[in-house]
Amino acid sequence: MSASEAAAPPLILVIGAGFSGTAVAVHLLARAAGPLRVVMVNRSGEMARGLAYGTASPQHLLNVPAGRMSLFPDRPGDFLTFLQAQPGGWQGGDFVPRSLYGDYLHHRLQSAAAARPGVLVQRVGMVRSLVRGGDGRLVARLDDGSAMVADRVVLSVGNHPPMTPAALRAVAGHPGYVADPWRSGALDPIDQKAPVLLLGSGLTMLDVALELARRGHQGPLMALSRRGLLPQAHRDSHHPHDIPLPPELFAQTGLGPRLRLLRRWIAALAATGIDWRDALVALRPVTPRLWQTLTTGDRRRFLHHLQPYWDTHRHRCAPAIAQAVGDLRDQGRLQVIAGRLQGASPTPGGIAVSFIRRGSGIAETLTVGTLINCTGPAGQVQAIPDPLLHTLLAAGDIQTDALGLGLVTLADYRLAGPLADRLYHVGPFLKGQFWEATAVPELREHAAALVTALLQSL
Ligand SMILES: Cc1cc2nc3c(=O)[nH]c(=O)nc-3n(C[C@H](O)[C@H](O)[C@H](O)COP(=O)(O)OP(=O)(O)OC[C@H]3O[C@@H](n4cnc5c(N)ncnc54)[C@H](O)[C@@H]3O)c2cc1C
Repeated sequence: MSASEAAAPPLILVIGAGFSGTAVAVHLLARAAGPLRVVMVNRSGEMARGLAYGTASPQHLLNVPAGRMSLFPDRPGDFLTFLQAQPGGWQGGDFVPRSLYGDYLHHRLQSAAAARPGVLVQRVGMVRSLVRGGDGRLVARLDDGSAMVADRVVLSVGNHPPMTPAALRAVAGHPGYVADPWRSGALDPIDQKAPVLLLGSGLTMLDVALELARRGHQGPLMALSRRGLLPQAHRDSHHPHDIPLPPELFAQTGLGPRLRLLRRWIAALAATGIDWRDALVALRPVTPRLWQTLTTGDRRRFLHHLQPYWDTHRHRCAPAIAQAVGDLRDQGRLQVIAGRLQGASPTPGGIAVSFIRRGSGIAETLTVGTLINCTGPAGQVQAIPDPLLHTLLAAGDIQTDALGLGLVTLADYRLAGPLADRLYHVGPFLKGQFWEATAVPELREHAAALVTALLQSL
């Protein structure tokens, strides 16, 4: 390191500028007492939006009420303050368009940067590799061939596009197969009259079905998932009760006994008029502890047998979305099929998809013009075809948890491994350790705590 470099303020490189990277940068800018340089590199070019909040569709609403979406754990009303300065007369219980949330993140990032002139550099580019340099600092190489040397690096690379299931291998390159519905323009070439099969029936499917309907799609829409379960709806307005948890909750460590205990608890609450949604709200702060006290075998069983039920009850949709999707189903424009995907092959007019219908066990085939992968963000970290993750994993510089759901971090958000003295992580890959770590109310806490630890380390 040269004398001038040694005298320069420490450089923090934030890789990824979705919610997590933005939250980290905003906290760094607001809280760093001494001189600092912060560089954010984002491959999408859309700073401070990421996958979730980069959508322009008015059909895509937040699935958390506005009053709970502040960027700051200690200022819960901040998003509402921003909203109330916009047209729309928004209230805290409203489920507002996700694009507005992107505007909010963008605004808060630019304001934080303006308050500390010269500290933040925002760069479009993709970090392809990260290695330790000769002086001990970390060297990031970007896709334009440039390199950057950083004192600390925050990996906030977020959600990755869905994985193509092995059963779809024969159509992976077919023009009628949409591998990533979030890719800009992905839905543009779809023939409006052709039948479309949506693989998956969760929040991504709802987004895609409603967007196709908004664009005037006239052909039949079908959604296929193992159980055919759709996300439950939030209520329009609710005032969660302060509900005590069952005292013996943590005494029961096995998955089965815990499940039975929680079912009895929810039934007892229902008998007193308390909705199951409020029970889930009460469980949310202790979900990480519940997850961490399960054995790996029980976690695996949970993923196999219970996750679809957990996801549809825990990750609910806005009431307006549930209503709009219900209307599509009532009008016969959207059909939901419970069945197991078997395979797919190209046909002269499109794609033939075979599946076994749940319950009957009968094999059936659907021929569609377009098949859209709506299975949600990629789940298995090792399988994600991302150069940066791939090289870090291959070098043993980062590690996945036993089930491959996320990355292993130490208590202060440093990534376990040989780069732990300088490499931090926040984002949905915390799921492996906390399970409940993918939405804003949790990620903002993690981002704020990471910045505290990072600033202390400097
Ligand atoms: C469709 C959708 C809707 C959601 N809606 C809600 C909601 O309503 N409420 C809620 O609380 N939560 C919601 N979530 C949860 C969501 O995961 C979090 O709120 C949050 O957006 C995660 O942010 P992130 O920054 O970790 O990841 P992302 O938003 O995925 O951002 C990661 C960024 O990193 C960039 N990147 C990746 N790799 C590199 C690289 N090598 N070099 C440079 N840049 C890179 C990407 O381009 C991207 O911009 C939603 C999630 C999805 C997918």
